[in-house]
Amino acid sequence: MSDLFVELTAPNGRKYSQPRGLFINNEFVKSKSGETISTINPSDETEICSVYAAGPEDVDIAVAAARKAFKDPSWRDMDSTARGELLLKFAELIEKHRETLATIETWDNGKAYTISLAEDLGEVIGTLKYYAGYADKIHGQVITTSPKKLAYTLREPLGVCGQIIPWNFPLAMAAWKLGPALCTGNTVVLKAAEQTPLSILYLATLVKEAGFPPGVINFINGEGRKAGAALAQHHGVDKIAFTGSTATGKEIMKLASVNMKNITLETGGKSPLLVFDDADLEQAVKWAHVGIMYNQGQVCTATSRILVQEGVYDKFISEFKEHVAQTSVVGDPFKDDTFQGPQVTKAQFDNVLSYIEAGKSAGAKLIAGGEAFKNVGGKGFFIAPTIFADVTDEMKIYKEEVFGPFVVISSFKTEEEAVERANDTTYGLGAAVFTQNITKGHRLAREIEAGMVWINSSNDADIRIPFGGVKQSGIGRELGEAGLEAYTNKKAVHVNLGTKL
Ligand code: ADP
Repeated sequence: MSDLFVELTAPNGRKYSQPRGLFINNEFVKSKSGETISTINPSDETEICSVYAAGPEDVDIAVAAARKAFKDPSWRDMDSTARGELLLKFAELIEKHRETLATIETWDNGKAYTISLAEDLGEVIGTLKYYAGYADKIHGQVITTSPKKLAYTLREPLGVCGQIIPWNFPLAMAAWKLGPALCTGNTVVLKAAEQTPLSILYLATLVKEAGFPPGVINFINGEGRKAGAALAQHHGVDKIAFTGSTATGKEIMKLASVNMKNITLETGGKSPLLVFDDADLEQAVKWAHVGIMYNQGQVCTATSRILVQEGVYDKFISEFKEHVAQTSVVGDPFKDDTFQGPQVTKAQFDNVLSYIEAGKSAGAKLIAGGEAFKNVGGKGFFIAPTIFADVTDEMKIYKEEVFGPFVVISSFKTEEEAVERANDTTYGLGAAVFTQNITKGHRLAREIEAGMVWINSSNDADIRIPFGGVKQSGIGRELGEAGLEAYTNKKAVHVNLGTKL
């Protein structure tokens, strides 16, 4: 038993018991192979602890548990209001453990504690409550055809859902996936990202306490190529929901094709933010900053490509530079005034540095940053907030997703050019438009190829509003009522009320 938990003291002094096992059938267990992965504090590069890592055999066991639970009357036939109450209880328990969960998230991921506590945990609790409310409001429809026929639809759960989440918002991404899957009566095997397994394992301790029947929610850790791939290609899994890189999303699509799984993919982006001459520049600067620098720039919807009309180009750059310098306080994520912590891993840190080199060697104009940030004890994966201007369309830093506190700025002349360049990307996740002309704002919202458009804001996500991308930014939608579509089938029932063919 003791091997499955370790007593830890976090850098902020919080003591807690960290689970290390795979969570299957409401119990923590070791992986069959005994293999473990170790997780690192990105602020000082020390090991926090190791956790058991699932292999294909463990995935089989977790999927079998989820399959059994899916058919078990205790879950399958549960009154829909009772199912909503279970989700609510789960949300309440998360609220009770909010500080511990936020502490673990910050320790393992590097994001600022004040943000984990208020925003990430707020979103987790809010999402679960939101979908708890939907549990008894999911209806089929009667479709009128002729007096000889009664036709209606049933909204049915899909079955066993494999959910593969990334490391940038571990708990929030888990909530986005668990909420709609559970309120519609599915069962789940969720794989945490190998870089950030700890908060998900702690969340598991609350599953049993909330009262979910065994096997309804299973959490596994493990490497993407092993545990993730085993889940994606498992014949016992009916659906895969994935958030992560576009390359991995494509791989998962292929793997999921073995039994034609239902898929939802939320992948990468290089989202544009357009600032027109007629914009409220102060607002544009403020939102452009959160749009790219929030969460260390590790946000799929980050507006990482800023296009500014030539009349305000120089002014925007000088005000943006000033705002970033004042607001993007880099430091120990447990300090109250920190806005930006370290990148999540050495691999991500090195990747961002390689893009900085690419920007410099391509001749882009470095406005700020452009190097590692060394002033946090000399250790850790910190990057100075980096701004490149005069970036041109053929540069690698203009085209590729960097996933760091790294933004490129370029100028445009006309609205037509702005739209063409905004759309000249393989991605289509978000886009922001700054103008005080409402006609132009709405016109652009239609013309830009993206799953989400923000007029006079950026990355203004809301759990009640659909989230997702077009083009190579994904398939399907999460959040809002649209999120339910991803987890239900509509079965059509035809009742013959006549006597003849
Ligand atoms: P990153 O490259 O930033 O780590 P990924 O998109 O590769 O992002 O990872 C997101 C999630 O997908 C993680 O949980 C990871 O373990 C998982 N994953 C990675 N590769 C695969 C794969 N081949 N099959 C299934 N899951 C994978």
